[in-house]
Amino acid sequence: SIPMTYFAGIGASSKNGILIKGGNYLEVLSNSKYLVLDKTGTLTKGNFKVNNIKTFNEFSEGEVLKFAAYAESFSTHPIAKSIVKEFKNEINQNIIKEYTEIKGKGIKALVENKEILCGNFNFINSEIKNAKETSENGTIVYISVNNTFAGYIVIKDEIKETSNEAIESLNKLDVTMLTGDRKSTAKEVADKVGIKNYKYELLPDDKVSEVEKLLLNKEDRESLLFVGDGINDAPVLARADVGIAMGGVGSDAAIEAADMIIMDDDLRKIKKSIDIANKTKKIVN
Ligand code: ADP
Ligand code: MG
Repeated sequence: SIPMTYFAGIGASSKNGILIKGGNYLEVLSNSKYLVLDKTGTLTKGNFKVNNIKTFNEFSEGEVLKFAAYAESFSTHPIAKSIVKEFKNEINQNIIKEYTEIKGKGIKALVENKEILCGNFNFINSEIKNAKETSENGTIVYISVNNTFAGYIVIKDEIKETSNEAIESLNKLDVTMLTGDRKSTAKEVADKVGIKNYKYELLPDDKVSEVEKLLLNKEDRESLLFVGDGINDAPVLARADVGIAMGGVGSDAAIEAADMIIMDDDLRKIKKSIDIANKTKKIVN
């Protein structure tokens, strides 16, 4: 049977905007040893803004933005939303004939009978021959039209105001950041929030492998927490001892896969939940 104090622990959590799916997770939280965090939407706001557009092969900025916005218009990814928002015009989705989203890479779509690719450099470069990589800061979205490189869009995200304090408060844990983004952006965010270990250019499955590697290092009772915004990370949420999702994103798959939900996306709630778990444990023992 479940000790009564576990209900108190769950109640205290929910008053703090932390939903825990069972009393057993309080026990697991009190043995926290590893903390793995996703970057976009977790440590950062996941609210990208278009910074600049660079064009190639006689495409105009307007065309590059239009093709990107059309290609991205069915996607719920934060990158997609920022590009559609910047485009400002109405999108006639009737002219989009085929559409595929490749997780952790980008989009392939047939727009006005032109094949549009829109995604990161590795993705574009594996499909067309003439793409040019830039060393500009930020997250870069590359666009091609009928196999011709059309340009790239530089977008920038912001770190949440509370991420630093949250990471500082968890300095007893072994902390790792995982991201599908490229090295320079990963390093910039990790440095700014005070995380020493970070892995970049990971596909969703690579994130699962990284978590599995850490799980192998665990001693008996130690536990691993994973925190993500739910975009492309439901498999990792399910694999961790405690999968923690951000409630604000509202991805059903994430809420389903998670063991714990932080309703207001404030990472300081991780420490709060561990504190509540420790208190609950003292009362149980
Ligand atoms: P993260 O680990 O930063 O949360 P994802 O796994 O969702 O990111 O995506 C990894 C990378 O794949 C992104 O940084 C981006 O380069 C590319 N990508 C993913 N989805 C899209 C999309 N809809 N449009 C353009 N690029 C995308
Ligand atoms: Mg993500």
